[in-house]
Amino acid sequence: MIQPQSAACVLCASFGKLVWHLEFMSPVPRVIILGAGPAGLAAAYCLKQRGVSATVLERGNTVAAALRRADPETRLLSPARHSLLPGMVRDWYADEYPTFAELIRILERYRTQFAIDITTGVDIGQITHEGSEFHVQGCVAEEAPFTIAASHLILATGVISSPVLPDDFDPTHCTIPWKHSLDVRADDLRTARRLLVVGGGSSAGEVLERWLDVRPAESTVWLSLRSPLRTYVNPFFGIEWHDIASIPERLPASLFGWRAGRLREPMNVRTLKPPLRGGLIQRVGPVTQYASDHVVIGGTHIEPDLMVFATGYRAAMPQMDGLIQYDPDGRPIVKNCGVPPTPGLYWLGYRYGRNFASPYIRGIARDAEYIARMIIGESRFSLREKLDRKH
Ligand SMILES: Cc1cc2nc3c(=O)[nH]c(=O)nc-3n(C[C@H](O)[C@H](O)[C@H](O)COP(=O)(O)OP(=O)(O)OC[C@H]3O[C@@H](n4cnc5c(N)ncnc54)[C@H](O)[C@@H]3O)c2cc1C
Repeated sequence: MIQPQSAACVLCASFGKLVWHLEFMSPVPRVIILGAGPAGLAAAYCLKQRGVSATVLERGNTVAAALRRADPETRLLSPARHSLLPGMVRDWYADEYPTFAELIRILERYRTQFAIDITTGVDIGQITHEGSEFHVQGCVAEEAPFTIAASHLILATGVISSPVLPDDFDPTHCTIPWKHSLDVRADDLRTARRLLVVGGGSSAGEVLERWLDVRPAESTVWLSLRSPLRTYVNPFFGIEWHDIASIPERLPASLFGWRAGRLREPMNVRTLKPPLRGGLIQRVGPVTQYASDHVVIGGTHIEPDLMVFATGYRAAMPQMDGLIQYDPDGRPIVKNCGVPPTPGLYWLGYRYGRNFASPYIRGIARDAEYIARMIIGESRFSLREKLDRKH
């Protein structure tokens, strides 16, 4: 016969085992998010909705620090309805095509309304992964350095902080005024009589459009291209391009392997077609030499009074050597927002990190939900998400 005390012991032991088992099976994730731009904020919100409060560490002194470097008057190419983070509604935006200034105001509101806690001014040091724990070292201003441990790490550091210049351009040996497209303002273009734009993507298109608006009389622009110009027209027969692309851009990028990273954004030539056809915008080949006071293009010397490098951005996370693998072009390999060699590591907002919308606000919104669900081990995934994970 079982004694009451021993029955109680068995029950207690079983309960203890059950508690241990539950804790082991579903420990509360401890998540660190690096970056408080749209991606970091969206990830923090999605986790919070699921009862997980993340530690958000931002290098700048405020939310969306990187976006503040862009021209506040520049408008997003995507309409407001395609620029919503989880929890936002269309009414938050006043304009159909918001300016960067408006986007920043909205991100500040997002942080306040959803009470997202952020530590700003953090200088991130080494990041290591031992066992199943990440250790992130950092320090804030003059304070003592700290190390935080986490089970999951989300990189939401964007690309804007790392603009790319051509490899063979040496700024220290150049007397021609130059800027990266991110830093160009209308006032720079107002006085540019001989403008050279290097690069043929969407940023080059934006610079050219603004130059056409403000250019001085009798001015010239060269558009230097390494490969044929790829263009599109938005709106297309009255239909907003982002509505048309909404389905195909969700194709898993992994279907295309690492070469997906080579795909470049085409240029919207809605207003640029006539000047391109008429020769006001002169298409030229790649720059073969950047000399101190001129550039050489196909044997011809030209002397621009302003060079604009619309040469894009490169995602970089040098503190994480060994935790990231790189493709033959030197880009980190990211698959379905995960970073394959390191479990628990995610990259949100990474170019084609899950699909072709991943670098844009609309894609970040969906991917943030996806990552949050992965982290809490949610078992319900849509058929498309299951397919994504298979590829
Ligand atoms: C000219 C231009 C036009 C664009 N137009 C559109 C558009 O029309 N539609 C659209 O959807 N998207 C557009 N984009 C892209 C849009 O800016 C991005 O979708 C968005 O900014 C990505 O958000 P993010 O949080 O991933 O990166 P970011 O906005 O770059 O934010 C990253 C944050 O991480 C911080 N950070 C960086 N490194 C570290 C570190 N080591 N430690 C801690 N913090 C760090 C930065 O300070 C920053 O606050 C455009 C971008 C540019 C440049």
